Amino acid sequence: MSNRFVVPPSLHALPVVGSTDLFAVRRIYCVGRNYLDHVREMKEADERDPPFFFQKPADAVVQDGATIAYPMDTEDFQHEIELVVALKGSARRISVEAANSLIFGYAVGLDMTRRDRQREARERRIAWEIGKSFDQSAPCSAINPLSSTGHVQSGAITLSVNGIERQRGDISDLIWDVAEIISKLSHQYELKPGDLIFTGTPAGVGAVHPGDRLDGSINGVGRLTITISSQET
Ligand code: MN
Repeated sequence: MSNRFVVPPSLHALPVVGSTDLFAVRRIYCVGRNYLDHVREMKEADERDPPFFFQKPADAVVQDGATIAYPMDTEDFQHEIELVVALKGSARRISVEAANSLIFGYAVGLDMTRRDRQREARERRIAWEIGKSFDQSAPCSAINPLSSTGHVQSGAITLSVNGIERQRGDISDLIWDVAEIISKLSHQYELKPGDLIFTGTPAGVGAVHPGDRLDGSINGVGRLTITISSQET
C-alpha cells in the first residue's frame, strides 16, 4: 500500500535554456557581499572580510516574466541583480580547483530585499531572514547550461528599472569568484544537485515601487524581466 500526502508535495523548478528540461531547485544560497563598490555603498565594516552566506527558501524562486507582489512588512523593497550558479553535483569540502565540476549552468537572478528590515536586523545583531528570506524574493531566469555559456568569469551585469539603468558591474569584479564561492560554501554545507548560489550584487541597489518593471542582464548568460504588481496585496 502506498502512502499518500496529506498536503500536496511542492516542487520548485526553473526552465533550462534551449530545451524543454526543467531544473528542480533544492536550496537557494546567497553571498552576503562580493563586489567592493557594493560593500562600500552599504558601509560594511571591513572590505576584506570573507564572504558570508544566507539562504532563501526554495519556494521563493520566481520565473522570468512574472509579476510579483510588493511584499508585506516593508517600505523599502530593493533590487540586487546577481549572477546565479546552478549546481548538478554533490560535494563536501571541495577544493577551488575542483569546484567548477559541480556547475550545471548559470542564470540571472534578483536577490530582492526588504532593506529596512535587513538594516534593523543588522543593527540589532539578529538574523537576516526577515530582510532576505520571504515570498517571491528570488526571481531567476531560465538556467543557461554550461555547454553554451562556458565558465562565466567576466561580462557586464546590469539592471534597469522602467528603462533607466540602476546597476552596472562586471562579473570579473567579484571579490570571490564562482569557484572560490562554491569551495567556501561546501565547507559549511554539503552541496547537492539543484542548489542555486546567488553570488552577490554590484553597486547601485535601490528601491522599487508598485508597477515598476525590472530588466536584468548578464552578458553571455541571459536576461530576466520582473514586474512589481500595481495591485495592493
Ligand atoms: Mn545579494
